[in-house]
Amino acid sequence: MLKDVKQLIDIGINLAHDSFDADRDHVIARAASVGVTQMIVTGSSGASTRAAIELSRERAGSLFATAGVHPHHATDLDEALVAELQTLAQEPQVVAVGECGLDYFRDFSPREKQRQAFHRQLELATKVGKPVFLHQRDAHEDFLAILREHWPRLKNGVAHCFTGNGAELAAYLDLGLSIGITGWICDERRGSHLLPLMKEIPAERLMLETDAPYLLPRDLKPKPESRRNEPAYLPHIAQVVARARGESVAQLADSTTATARAFFSLTH
Ligand SMILES: [Zn+2]
Repeated sequence: MLKDVKQLIDIGINLAHDSFDADRDHVIARAASVGVTQMIVTGSSGASTRAAIELSRERAGSLFATAGVHPHHATDLDEALVAELQTLAQEPQVVAVGECGLDYFRDFSPREKQRQAFHRQLELATKVGKPVFLHQRDAHEDFLAILREHWPRLKNGVAHCFTGNGAELAAYLDLGLSIGITGWICDERRGSHLLPLMKEIPAERLMLETDAPYLLPRDLKPKPESRRNEPAYLPHIAQVVARARGESVAQLADSTTATARAFFSLTH
C-alpha cells in the first residue's frame, strides 16, 4: 500500500465481465489490500447491470452498481429494457445511471439509435434522481448538445474515462461535469496530452477509475503477465495523476475519495 494513502475508490470497473469469473474474489481482495476498498461496478447492458447489482448486494458497502446501456448496445434498448432499467435504477445499490452516451469511434450501433438511447437514459436518470455515468468517444459535439438539453434537470454527471483535449475538458467543466481519469493517462503513445490537463480539474470534480478489465496501464513495472487490468492497479494511476497535479498521492487519494463519496452519495 502506498504511504499515507487511506483509501481509493475505483469509480469504473467492469467487475461483472467474464474475464473475472474465475477469480473475482481474489481480484476484490487484491484491490482491498492496496486500499481500493470501494468500487462502482459498471452496468453497460441489461445483463451486466443485473450482474453488477447482484455483486453489489453480496458485498454491500464495498461494491455499488450503475444501471445502463453502453452506446455499443444502444440497439438493445427497447421499451421492455427501458422499463426494466427504470426498476433496476431505483435499487438502493445503484448509485448512477449509465454507462450511457455516444461512441462514434466504433459505431457498433447506428448513431441515431445511440442518440435515442442516450436521451432515454438521461430522462431515466432525471426520473430516479441519480447522477449519470457518461461515455463519449469521437462524438463530443452531439454528446454535449444532448447533455445540455437535459442538464438543468439532472442530478449530476461524470465523464468517465476522459481522453479528450483541453477544449473538451473546458466545455465539460463549464457545463458542470465531473471527470473520471483512467490508466489511459499512463499511455505514452496516446495519453500524455492528458498530463498537463490534470491541474485544470478542481479536486471536487476529479475521480479515478481503472475501467478494468480494459485499459491496463502501459507503464506498469514489472509488466504483468496478463493483459487484464485490475482495480489493484488504481494506486498506480493515482501516482501518475498526483505527479501531474504536483500534489502528494495521499492528498489526491483523500480528495478523489471524498469527491466520489459525495458524487455517488455513498453512506458507508
Ligand atoms: Zn466507457
